[in-house]
Amino acid sequence: MGVACPKCGSDHLRRVKREGFLQVKFWPFFGYYPWECAHCRITVMLRHRGERKRKQPVEAKDSA
Ligand SMILES: [Zn+2]
Repeated sequence: MGVACPKCGSDHLRRVKREGFLQVKFWPFFGYYPWECAHCRITVMLRHRGERKRKQPVEAKDSA
């Protein structure tokens, strides 16, 4: 949702690790995150951080 490749329009994007000065220092300043298109194999910057792995307060109490 909200994530689509600007080149082919595919939504098969995955978050990739920031690489280089721009992606590490520049883009985060504007709230952009690097994504890689599964079809084009290009890295695109999107204002979407991805919410697959959101931190949930999972309390695993084995023996408190
Ligand atoms: Zn694409």
